This record gives sequence, C-alpha cells and structure tokens, in this order.
Amino acid sequence: MNTDLSKLEKENPELFQEAYETVKAKRVKKYVFKPGDRVRWVVVGKTRDYLVLPEAGYCSCEDFFFRVMSHEKPMCYHLLAVKIAQITEIYTVIEETIEWHERLMNEWVFYEKA
Ligand SMILES: [Zn+2]
Repeated sequence: MNTDLSKLEKENPELFQEAYETVKAKRVKKYVFKPGDRVRWVVVGKTRDYLVLPEAGYCSCEDFFFRVMSHEKPMCYHLLAVKIAQITEIYTVIEETIEWHERLMNEWVFYEKA
C-alpha cells in the first residue's frame, strides 16, 4: 500500500475500511463539465449521491452536517473515499455539458427542498 494511503488509514482507522470498500465498488464518480473542465466529486450513497469537495473538506451528507461540523467526527467516509480514490485513481469519470452543472449541484446539495 502506498504511503499516502497508509497515512489516511492511520488518521482515520474507524472510517477507512468502509471508505475503501466504497472506492473499490466504484461508487466514487468524478464529473467533468465541458467546456471549462470544472470537476465535481460525487459519492454514490445508500439513498442518494453526495457532493464532496476534497480541498475544502466538505461533504453534503447528513453525517457531515450533524457530526463533522459539530466536531464529533473528523470527517465522513465519503470525504475519505474521495481522498482514497484520488490516490488510487479508482473512480468513474463522467463528462457532462456545463448546462448540467447547476442542475446536478441542486440535486446533490439542496436535497431537503426536493
Ligand atoms: Zn459524507
């Protein structure tokens, strides 16, 4: 296992296995919007898809909102899954036109309005 990966495992022992399984199941998707090459990372969850911003350390799931933002947990497994996917390069790339960006962002982030 490469060193970045074992570092992530050491930092997140409780979440690592679930996150890694998610990656291996190809549930991490990298959306690339054309033109412009805007990239959005999405993890396919049990009931819906979650938007993950790995650089900002953000995920649109309930666990993140209720437990990570209140500092009960350092991160959710979706966020960790995207980090693992970036290191292992195991993910699905989906190309969409830029017109889809706002529509998908609404679906991923503003789920409570649906
Ligand atoms: Zn999450």
